[in-house]
Amino acid sequence: MLETRACWYRPPVRTEKPKLIRLMTEIRVRFAPSPTGELHVGGLRTALFNYLFAKHNGGRFILRIEDTDRSRHVPEAEARIVELLQWAGLDPDEGPHRGGPCAPYRQSERLETYRAAAAELIGKGFAYRCTCSPATLQEMREAQAADGLLIRYDGRCRDLTDQERAEKESGGMPIVVRMKIPERNERIIVQDSVRGEVAFNTGQLDDQVIIKSDGYPTYHLAAVVDDHAMGITHVLRAEEWLSSTPKHLLLYRWLGWQPPQYAHLPLLLNTDRSKMSKRKGDTSVEYYREQGYLPDALVNFIALLGWSPGNDQELISRSELVQKFSVDRVGKTGSVFDRDKLDWMNQQYIKALSVEELFSLVKPFVDASDYATEDQNILRKIYAVVQPKLVKLSEITDHLPLFFRSDDVPIESTALGKIKTVDARKAFVEFRERLHTVDELDAPSFKEIMREVAKSTGVKGKSLWEPMRIALTLETEGPELAAVVEILGKEKARVRIDLALAASG
Ligand code: GLU
Repeated sequence: MLETRACWYRPPVRTEKPKLIRLMTEIRVRFAPSPTGELHVGGLRTALFNYLFAKHNGGRFILRIEDTDRSRHVPEAEARIVELLQWAGLDPDEGPHRGGPCAPYRQSERLETYRAAAAELIGKGFAYRCTCSPATLQEMREAQAADGLLIRYDGRCRDLTDQERAEKESGGMPIVVRMKIPERNERIIVQDSVRGEVAFNTGQLDDQVIIKSDGYPTYHLAAVVDDHAMGITHVLRAEEWLSSTPKHLLLYRWLGWQPPQYAHLPLLLNTDRSKMSKRKGDTSVEYYREQGYLPDALVNFIALLGWSPGNDQELISRSELVQKFSVDRVGKTGSVFDRDKLDWMNQQYIKALSVEELFSLVKPFVDASDYATEDQNILRKIYAVVQPKLVKLSEITDHLPLFFRSDDVPIESTALGKIKTVDARKAFVEFRERLHTVDELDAPSFKEIMREVAKSTGVKGKSLWEPMRIALTLETEGPELAAVVEILGKEKARVRIDLALAASG
């Protein structure tokens, strides 16, 4: 049972009394990206697990933009994150794009709250101001490295007298605020829903900067202050943040707040089990959207990166994901991002679309191609025929030349070899004869003609179908031939058989 939480939030510019927002006992989780570039698939996984956890428990899913690192801030990144979350069907319930009871949801607009927390920590003796310059810190690191010591801040500004501090600060040096990690070695236990108890020693921790010299907080202070202020009950985030959690627990303790329940999600790995790099192009969610992966397929695939429904079910609808998701079934070991599996899954989702759905989904790809002005009804028929072959929506344009190219495109040499046979010529001649007997060539009449050709020439199976496919489509493989021929029509079939006959001689 969750305790009742209160969300104190002091709006930065107002001076009236702080507003008390009672968030009851609902589950509140957040996705807290830094707007420094493209949304990574690992970020989408974090967002998805938070979303599923919230929806499964009737809670709220919050977007918080952690934009306190001004040097890495990319102005368009926030809008792109929101757009991609919406594309993936994971629209947050609260966030900078839609407001909510704990607004603002952008950390750069909440600076007063972090400064107030830092002042409180300094007042209580849990933090201190430090004026060491970057050059001093560099010297310190070099000396520690030379002596084989742990590289960390050596604490020279920790215990200054008021007078010493005033003297140092009068020099106009940039000032940062640091955590005063207890000197006495203490075990800090993180109770993690995925990893169980994880123990750290305060001796391993550095006097972490919490307010930078530009007056902005670092991630650690801002995340703790906001998770508390926004009533966050559970923090599901990537494993790379686990080592920061003991610092966060100290901040909670010093500020007298109850920490949320943590769950650190396992790493995402490449197929060679190396850590999935943020820098490779094909790790951005945008890449998958552009390639024509369906949001439902990508979400289904990503849901299984670290979580399992408890059996070997792979295709799981969104509502089933919400119904089945639980942190208990999130594993500790890294999960491989297997593109082949994603492709297979996307193909299954494409196969399940209605032709009208497929029509509107492939439209942007076709509109950007040479086939934009083709007859829409013919395109619809083509989509139905090629649908089972499509792995990604973007592949649609690879299938269109088959239907639209001019008849006199030369047959490529390997294919040509396959129609230069006695059997192929016999089949072409017979097919041409039979073609005259039908008014229109549709799939049933084509199949009937093929049966008759087989019967009268004795040419069957692959010896018949392969040369016929090459003659009629100029390709060695493709969608079901009868369905393709129905779209090509009698006249094209006749012309192409004549050309193939001439070429096969
Ligand atoms: N801003 C951090 C990030 O970019 C959030 C980490 C957290 O969820 O606490 O991933």
